[in-house]
Amino acid sequence: MFKQGPILDPEHRLTIRGIKIYYDGSLGSRTALLREPYADEPSKANMTERITPQRVANLADRAVKHGFQLAVHAIGDEANDRVLNIFETALNSYKNLDHRWRIEHAQVVFPNYYQRVAKMGIISSMQSSHAVGDSVWAEDRLGAKRIQLAYGWQNILQAGGRLIINSDLPGEPWRPEQTLHFAVTRQDLNDQPPRGWYPKQRLSIMTALNSMITESAYAAFQEDVLGSLKIGTLADFIILDKDPRNIPDQEIKQLKVQSTWVNGKKVWSTF
Ligand SMILES: [Zn+2]
Repeated sequence: MFKQGPILDPEHRLTIRGIKIYYDGSLGSRTALLREPYADEPSKANMTERITPQRVANLADRAVKHGFQLAVHAIGDEANDRVLNIFETALNSYKNLDHRWRIEHAQVVFPNYYQRVAKMGIISSMQSSHAVGDSVWAEDRLGAKRIQLAYGWQNILQAGGRLIINSDLPGEPWRPEQTLHFAVTRQDLNDQPPRGWYPKQRLSIMTALNSMITESAYAAFQEDVLGSLKIGTLADFIILDKDPRNIPDQEIKQLKVQSTWVNGKKVWSTF
């Protein structure tokens, strides 16, 4: 792929320009890389660094040279910190590069993560379903203190960082109306817990839509054609049965798509 270069379809139906690197594991399986031991059953943990920092730095270098975008999976606080260190060093040698590098998941971070990503222009790519699906055991794994720095969507935005919300398909419920529901409510599909899990981190409906649509287009270098409806962009859109801005939060997950349009053509509809 490096030799061939990115795949950039002029009709924007298939674009391949990003690479994802797995840096650590996952919190559920206790393989995510944390600085301090797991709060529950630390002896069962098998913290994993799947690739050395040197190799990530090498891939970053090659990605830049061949026109690819870098995204690195980092879940634990130590993993996120190390990846930011790699990014920092690499970006110092590419002044003014429009990199749009991403951290995938950024689930547990150190307090300085938020300022660092804002300053470096790193995009935090997070999955609203994770905060809901993991809420059953995440605090056991992390304890009361680290959980404050986990799944912190508002922490990122308030520090001036860029946030995109997506589904991590197929690991969790992935339908867009469900992803939107999780982002706005931090509740499961049965509306639990009643006020949402750590509700301070919930997103407003407009912020959630923006993170899923406009910011995501930017995060894919496609904001010129996707993520907005204006002259010059593709007429890619859906028509919903209700306006998500004007319904109770609990109804978001039941939104129904009535028709789907791609580049101005109706490709699917219920009528
Ligand atoms: Zn991942």
